Amino acid sequence: MTSPYQRLVHELRQSFPQPVSDRVHDAYFAFSVLRTLDAVDALKSKTPLLGTPVEPDFEGARALRMAENPGQLEEITQRLVQHLSGMFIWGHPRAQINVISPPTIPSIIGGLLPSIYNPNLVSEESSRQVALAEVEASAITAGLVGYDPRNAVGIFTFGGTGTTLYGVRLGVEKAAPGTISHGLREPVAIVCSERAHYAAKTVCGWLGLGYDNLVLVPTDADNQIRPCLTETICRDLLKQGRKIGAIIATMGTTDAFGVDDLEALHAVRDRLVTEFNLDYIPHLHADAVIGWAWSVFDDYDFESNPLGFRRRTVRALAVVRNRMRYLGLADSIGVDFHKTGFTPYISSLFLLRDSSDLKLIARTKDAMPYLFQSGEYHPGQYTLETSRSASGAMAALANLLLFGKNGLRALLGHVVSMAEALREQLESHEATHVLNAGNHGPVTLFRVYPPGTDTFKIPELERTDASYRDLLLRHNQYNRRIFEIIQAEALQGRGVVISLTDCYRETDYGEPTVALKSYILSPFAEEEAVQFVLESIWRARAQLAEEDWKL
Ligand SMILES: *Cc1c(COP(=O)(O)O)cnc(C)c1O
Repeated sequence: MTSPYQRLVHELRQSFPQPVSDRVHDAYFAFSVLRTLDAVDALKSKTPLLGTPVEPDFEGARALRMAENPGQLEEITQRLVQHLSGMFIWGHPRAQINVISPPTIPSIIGGLLPSIYNPNLVSEESSRQVALAEVEASAITAGLVGYDPRNAVGIFTFGGTGTTLYGVRLGVEKAAPGTISHGLREPVAIVCSERAHYAAKTVCGWLGLGYDNLVLVPTDADNQIRPCLTETICRDLLKQGRKIGAIIATMGTTDAFGVDDLEALHAVRDRLVTEFNLDYIPHLHADAVIGWAWSVFDDYDFESNPLGFRRRTVRALAVVRNRMRYLGLADSIGVDFHKTGFTPYISSLFLLRDSSDLKLIARTKDAMPYLFQSGEYHPGQYTLETSRSASGAMAALANLLLFGKNGLRALLGHVVSMAEALREQLESHEATHVLNAGNHGPVTLFRVYPPGTDTFKIPELERTDASYRDLLLRHNQYNRRIFEIIQAEALQGRGVVISLTDCYRETDYGEPTVALKSYILSPFAEEEAVQFVLESIWRARAQLAEEDWKL
């Protein structure tokens, strides 16, 4: 006689991959995956959406409770697939929404394998050779950004925010030694640009430094930190007797792709150390979660241009390269493979130039008696996390192997070409104006103006002259309406999906400038997709004219 629980266990065993090879069951597993993918595939159409747009029913979701008895694998996978209905297909040429890249097949498999065998990167005891993937991906990336891979160390963590957290945490320990043991006893300032990602603020809050200790430096019109103001501001902080825990350089801002002058910031930092005779060196962290990928151009010969990029593209790539080539000067770097490296979420790497810095935050072995009984690789001694997935590392490694320098150069060059083609169009029309003209990445921020606007003068006046406040605000509203029309059309499967940013920048007199945003990261984008953006704009503009948009 088997008891009911034994029958349940027996039944549930079918839902696990078999520990011992069983070809029939292995086929069942693989087939379950295939059937799931088939069901998702059936949601594809020509539009940039899976299935149809659905308003998520959160009320219904909250009503769900656990069932008494097990469910059926097939029904569950079908239900999971339904959750994808209405998702954007980031890789679709008409999806130009945000800095989200479509994952490659090897990186998906890189993410899948650890999901099956569950290595834990806490140490080599629980991840064995999978731990090598973290070391290999880190070494390749260190080599790309100009670190000596033999001295550098890399840790995959929980997102770009996590990479900033590591950088700032090390900086605090350098500026205020012993904080890890006795806590923070003095204010420590963190310095970054006003266009830096809010992750810096999050980190200051969560580390107990406090939002008030995040010091924002103004940027120039190209969304890049002003190094000379940075120096003035840091000098003032030091004169007040405050310590500087970290200076964060943003290498590719989230909205506009502004790239800070890291070489200048490095020089500022070194001057301050000498001038104030500091007994610590303020940590220089590069938030390069977006920009890191451009390091593949460090040794590209733009003169002979062997990959045959258009001249306009060559210029755009070279401008960014000239900034990114100094990444190696940073003490640590944040890298997101899920942003510009075409992997699934989450694949974020914290790279540290000098691995010996880690001893500042390492726990002692006796704090972790059940870990690290053997082997040499124990990142759990210094990582914030204990359990740490290998999916990010395996996915990153997969793409680094897949692309090679020329592959990543080609992909980045392609999306930048598309963005430049869009800019060429937007610049040549009277009704449109590119806002981040000095930032040469895959993202274009622009405004659309109603008929009769002098777009040679108005954008500049709106930005600088407070007497144009009302016009600026009405144009903000106009752009919101244009966006709504384009968005509604896109959800019906026509036109393109772009996005809207509520505040590209503040005007000189403190008002937000609303902008439309096209972020092209799809390898499938072609000039035709650029044309679609223009067509969507003209249709939206015509509709507003019909609605008798009043200024
Ligand atoms: C996206 C982004 C972050 C945050 O990274 P996540 O991976 O989303 O956590 C930090 N800095 C910059 C510049 C970013 O664009």
